[in-house]
Amino acid sequence: MVNARYAVIGNPVEHSKSPEIHTAFAQATRQIIAYQRLLAPLDKFRETIDQFRAEGAAGCNITVPFKRKAFAFATTLSARAREAVAVNTLRFDGELVFGDNTDGVGLVRDIECNLNFPIGKKRILLLGAGGAARGIIGPLLRSKPAQLAIANRTFDNAVQLATQFQALGNICVLSLENLVEHQFDLVINATSASLNNSQLPIPAACFVAQTLAYDLMYGKVDTPFMRFAKAAGIQAVDGLGMLVEQAAEAFFVWRGLHPDTAPVIRQLKQNL
Ligand code: NDP
Repeated sequence: MVNARYAVIGNPVEHSKSPEIHTAFAQATRQIIAYQRLLAPLDKFRETIDQFRAEGAAGCNITVPFKRKAFAFATTLSARAREAVAVNTLRFDGELVFGDNTDGVGLVRDIECNLNFPIGKKRILLLGAGGAARGIIGPLLRSKPAQLAIANRTFDNAVQLATQFQALGNICVLSLENLVEHQFDLVINATSASLNNSQLPIPAACFVAQTLAYDLMYGKVDTPFMRFAKAAGIQAVDGLGMLVEQAAEAFFVWRGLHPDTAPVIRQLKQNL
């Protein structure tokens, strides 16, 4: 039988766990697929995809820094991809290229289903206003929080995002300096500060006893944001569950099947 071919395309891409995740999904659902990492030169995203399609590929995941380019590359887009102006999943349908964004649904599923933390009526603080933030605001607001406040190093980037999404719910912008005056039930770190091991200038006063601190980043050890939250006595988790959940949704886009995510999250945690 001919394997359906998929890949994760990025630069860099060697760190990506997507091959491990999708191979596990395929085994569990008895799908025959081949999944590889594909490094695209920064100025050759389109050529890399064209070549992969010409080789008969069925789809791909897109990671940093190409999610905007993938958005432009797709010929049809899901509503959530249009909203995010970013694409992390492409499916090749003959001449058509369907683009989707599964990051937001991945985050919401991890928080609500895996961590059993309903978002409805919660006060959310979203730290960061980059690509990841853009992908998760819509799905978060659709879970009907009491409020979603965005705080970001560059204030204007947060204002831009809040303006774009204001029709979807109660969204506002706060300056990092004023966070001390506010309290939140869910604090999501969607900045890349943890990548440089830097601590965000947020006060412990914005946590309450039941606050969940969620860092989109993941790794072998706790991020500085997680360490800060734990030191304040707050539950803190990383974004590994989101990574697996967004992959599961991409797998559904390609194969029409929802794989069980719990065993894959467990396996990845063991292998970190
Ligand atoms: P972007 O580069 O698009 O955005 C980075 C954001 O972080 C901006 O808001 C930027 O602020 C802010 N920032 C960067 N450095 C600092 C710092 N030292 N202090 C404070 N703020 C800072 O990145 P992405 O949005 O694509 O990714 C953000 C994080 O999310 C990454 O760690 C990434 O690995 C993770 N991620 C995890 C996923 C998962 O499945 N778990 C999926 C997608 C992303 P400014 O506007 O001022 O530049």
